Amino acid sequence: MLFKYLIRYLLYPILLIITFGFSYHSLNNADRSLAYDIGTHALTMVSLLMLIEMLIPLRGTWKATRSNFWRRDLPFIIIGSIGIKTADYIIAFIDKAIDFIQITTLAHLPFLLGVILAILITDFITYWIHRACHEEKGRIGRFLWRIHMPHHMPKQVNIVMQTNAHPINLFIGRTTFFLPLFFLGFSPEVIFTVAIITNLQALVSHFNVDIRVGWLNYILIGTELHRYHHSAKSSEAKNFGIVTSIWDQLFGTFYYNPGEIPESLGLEDTDLYPKETNIIGLMIYPFTRNK
Ligand SMILES: [Zn+2]
Repeated sequence: MLFKYLIRYLLYPILLIITFGFSYHSLNNADRSLAYDIGTHALTMVSLLMLIEMLIPLRGTWKATRSNFWRRDLPFIIIGSIGIKTADYIIAFIDKAIDFIQITTLAHLPFLLGVILAILITDFITYWIHRACHEEKGRIGRFLWRIHMPHHMPKQVNIVMQTNAHPINLFIGRTTFFLPLFFLGFSPEVIFTVAIITNLQALVSHFNVDIRVGWLNYILIGTELHRYHHSAKSSEAKNFGIVTSIWDQLFGTFYYNPGEIPESLGLEDTDLYPKETNIIGLMIYPFTRNK
C-alpha cells in the first residue's frame, strides 16, 4: 500500500525537517521560552507518531492497549513526570550556580559544530550509564538494572510505553543530559537543539511503525536499532546509545539486522521481578535485598 511505503521511507526525513524547522523558529523568536518549546515539540511529535501508530502499526501485538495504558503505562507516566520535574528543579538550581564554576566555555563554537559536539558528549555519557544498567556489575550496577528494568518489561515497543521506567532512572537520565552541557558552557541555542533532537530520537526509537533510514543507522540510533535493544534475546539486546550509534560501533555493542525485526521483546526471566503492573512493587524493588 502506497501510504505505508511513503511512511517507511519519508516519515523520518519529514520528522527531521519539522524538528530543525522548530529549532529555527524557536531560536529566531524574540519571545521564546526554550524550556516551554522543548515540551511543545515533544507533544507535537507524540501526537503525530501516536496517530500513525494507530493507522499502520508494524506489529499488532506491540500496539498500546487500553488495559496496559490504565494499569501500567499511565501510572508510569505520572510517576515518571515527578522524577523529571524534580530533575528540572535541581538542574535549574545548579544552573544558577554554574556561572561561577564552568570549567570552560564552548558557547562561541559555530552552531552546527556545537550541536554535533554536544550530541557526541551527551550520548557518550548516556551510552556508559545505559550500558552499566544492563551489565549489572557490582552493587551500583545491580541497582541501576533495578531502576531501568521496568523499561524492558513490556513485550511491546510503542510511543506510550516510552517513559516506563523507575523515576530515579528518568531523574539520572535528565540530569546527566543537561548538567554536563551547562558545565561545559554550551550556548542555550545549542542545548535547546540537542534536547529536541534527543527527544525525537527517544520517541522514534519506540515507534511501532515500519520506518527505515538505511545507511543512517551507522550514524543515528532510531527505530530499527533501538527495537533490537528491547529484544528478548540477550545476543540482540545491544545498541545502548540514544542519538548516535557511533559509540556502540566503537565499543562493540552495535547490532543491526537490516530489514528484520526481533522475534520477541521484553524480559525472559520475568519470574524474578514484580509483575509489570505492580507499580508499587517495582518502585520499592531497587531498595530490597539482592537475591
Ligand atoms: Zn535499556
